[in-house]
Amino acid sequence: MDSLNELCGQLRDQAATLGSVDAWPGEQLGAMGGAGVLGWLIPQEFGGSDISAAELVSGYEQLAAACLTSTFVLTQRNAAIQRIVKSGNEELKKELLPELVDHSQFVTVGISHLTTSRQHWKQPTVAVEMLDGGFLLNGEIPWVTGGDRADVIVTGGTLANGRQVLLAVEKCCEGLEMREPVSMLALNASRTGSIGLNHVFVPWTHLLHGPAENVMQQGGGGAGTLTTSALAIGHAANAVSLLRAETERRPELNEILEPLASDVAEVSTHLHEAVTSDENPLPGHLTAESLRHRSNSLALRASQAALAASKGAGFVTGHPAGRLVAEAMFFLVWSCPQPVVMANLREFASVCSTGEESWDPGC
Ligand SMILES: Cc1cc2nc3c(=O)[nH]c(=O)nc-3n(C[C@H](O)[C@H](O)[C@H](O)COP(=O)(O)OP(=O)(O)OC[C@H]3O[C@@H](n4cnc5c(N)ncnc54)[C@H](O)[C@@H]3O)c2cc1C
Repeated sequence: MDSLNELCGQLRDQAATLGSVDAWPGEQLGAMGGAGVLGWLIPQEFGGSDISAAELVSGYEQLAAACLTSTFVLTQRNAAIQRIVKSGNEELKKELLPELVDHSQFVTVGISHLTTSRQHWKQPTVAVEMLDGGFLLNGEIPWVTGGDRADVIVTGGTLANGRQVLLAVEKCCEGLEMREPVSMLALNASRTGSIGLNHVFVPWTHLLHGPAENVMQQGGGGAGTLTTSALAIGHAANAVSLLRAETERRPELNEILEPLASDVAEVSTHLHEAVTSDENPLPGHLTAESLRHRSNSLALRASQAALAASKGAGFVTGHPAGRLVAEAMFFLVWSCPQPVVMANLREFASVCSTGEESWDPGC
């Protein structure tokens, strides 16, 4: 824990340096490797520490409160690792996982077209053909964080019969067209962009999951998981800290700080109750969707409160309040299932409450 606290201090100090697409949190990932964070999801037999889901949620909350960009890049790396770990392809696991305990290799995911992106398209975004010895991929992976820094990209596509595969695609594959990272509202140093696939051949030896219908249900995780809420709550806690610093000089802000701080603490407690629960469905009114909606809402409200309390100074480029407001918007579009988006939209339209007491997906 001491090393995690120390790491968070370092990430916090460097957070403001990650504003541009020319940056990359390589140093931060190296420090995460030094603190044992990169091995969190890797089984012990491959050199990792295989921490519990509850420890992961706590760790993400703390890291996101220190630096959202580098923590987000870590989650995309871990999303790839999670799918490699859950695969039955033992040979590939032996080859890839020991290399991922430190920062010498980077893996990432391009899977949103199988969950939340382009779901209204009639044709699959990535078309897959099964050949002797492997798979041929054509199309475009719409979103890949750190694609140009990755040694391996976990991605998938759809066969003509509707079944899907998840594959570990090496960066050296012929036909892989790394596009420039896009310039975004925030998190630019995550170097996120699309990748073109022009007759990319991936051998059978790199098959992770499938062919199956809804292959993402096999690889674990998916959109809007509890860990995505952990990032949003960590971000809200960071905004509350900034508000607290203002309140120390201006006690009249206490009436704003206290309810926000207590909401953040409550949603965090509920998140931990959910992640440690053996019950399926989760106890009481807890659902992954309600927790994500509440976490999103708090990230937005707490960061805006921090900005308003910081006044015009907070609006000047470089002030942390402005960065926190821009970063909070990310939670409305990243790994956000449609019912959560609708709940947040209804909240904007004042059709329903922020959902602290209960959550009704239809409200
Ligand atoms: C910073 C960032 C990093 C990300 N990193 C990754 C990553 O590393 N890996 C990964 O897999 N994913 C990643 N994602 C993707 C993310 O999780 C979501 O899948 C993505 O934000 C969904 O947005 P989209 O524009 O692709 O959605 P789409 O649903 O494709 O929407 C695009 C546009 O299509 C139109 N549209 C939408 N729905 C309809 C409809 N029903 N009918 C008609 N028109 C419609 C709208 O005009 C909309 O603007 C990232 C996203 C962001 C913002």
